[in-house]
Amino acid sequence: MKTLYAVFGDPVGHSLSPVMHNAAFAALGMDCEYHKFRVTKDDLKEAIHGAKAMGFGGLNLTIPLKEKALRLVEPDPLAEAVGAVNTIEFRGNSIIGHNTDGVGAVNSLKLSGIVISHSNVLLMGAGGAARAVAYQLASKGARVTIANRTPKRAVELAANVSSVGRVEGTGLEDLASLVEQSHIIINTTSVGMHPDIDQTLVTEDMMHAGQVVFDLVYNPLQTKLLKEAKKAGAITVDGIKMLVLQGVESFRIWTNAEPPVDIMERAVRDVLGKQ
Ligand code: NAP
Repeated sequence: MKTLYAVFGDPVGHSLSPVMHNAAFAALGMDCEYHKFRVTKDDLKEAIHGAKAMGFGGLNLTIPLKEKALRLVEPDPLAEAVGAVNTIEFRGNSIIGHNTDGVGAVNSLKLSGIVISHSNVLLMGAGGAARAVAYQLASKGARVTIANRTPKRAVELAANVSSVGRVEGTGLEDLASLVEQSHIIINTTSVGMHPDIDQTLVTEDMMHAGQVVFDLVYNPLQTKLLKEAKKAGAITVDGIKMLVLQGVESFRIWTNAEPPVDIMERAVRDVLGKQ
C-alpha cells in the first residue's frame, strides 16, 4: 500500500511541495504519494491526529500553522528554539515536530560557496521565515542585524535569538548604511512577491560588487531585488534553493533515504518557469 505524505496550510493551493516530493519518490522508485490539504488553525490538531491514524508517513506545515503546531506536537530542540514547526514525523506513538526552514536557508548559502561564520548579515524582515533563518545564522557564528518595518518585532526577535549568537534588531530607517556594511543581505519580507513584482527595499545604488544577496521570495524567480543586485555586481541566491533544501531535510527525516536534490530542484523550477 502507498505511503501518503502531505502539506497542510491555509491557503495551500500555491504550494510546490507536492511537485518536489513526488519527483523525489518517483526517482527513487518509492511507493509514496504527497498531497496538499487546506487545513485551518482550528482543525489542525484533528488533522494531524487523523493523518497519524491513517498511517501517513509525515507532514509539512505552512502558513499559518507553523507556530500553532508547536503546542500540538513534541517539538525537537531546534523547533522549540525557533518557535515553529514545519515538519512532522510520526515515530511510534510520538508526533515529533521539526523545523527545517533555517537549515534550508543556511545550506542554500553554503552550497553557493558562501561563508557564514563571522560575516555581517543584514536580515530584512522579522516574520515567520526570519525567525528560523536568524536562529540558524546566529548559531553558525554570523553577526546578524535584523531590520524590520515594525522595529519592535525586529528587537523582540533579536532578543529571542541572542542566546545563540550576536543579533541586533532595528527599523528600516538606516537601511542604506546597513546594506553598505553587510557581507550578506537577506530579504525575508514579502516585498517583491507576486503581484507586486516591481518592489524592492534595496536598489542597485545601495549595493556593491562582492556582496551576497539572498531573496527568500521565489515567485517570481528573479525578483526585483535580485535583478538590482546583479546590476551592482553582487552574488545572488534565489529562494528556490531554500525551498528545495528545507524539503530535502524533511525528506531525510521521514524516509532515512538520500533525496535526489537536483531532481527536486528541477521539478520546482520547471513549474515556476511555466507560470
Ligand atoms: P510573514 O510572517 O507574514 O512576515 C512578513 C514580513 O515582511 C514582516 O517582517 C513584514 O514586516 C514584512 N513586510 C511585509 N510587507 C512589507 C513592506 N511593504 N515593507 C517592508 N516590510 C514588509 O511572512 P513569512 O512567512 O516570513 O514569509 C515572508 C516571505 O518569505 C514570503 O514571500 C514567503 O513566500 C517567503 N518564504 C520563502 C521560503 C523559501 O523556502 N524560499 C520559506 C518561507 C518563506 P512587519 O513586521 O512590519 O509587518
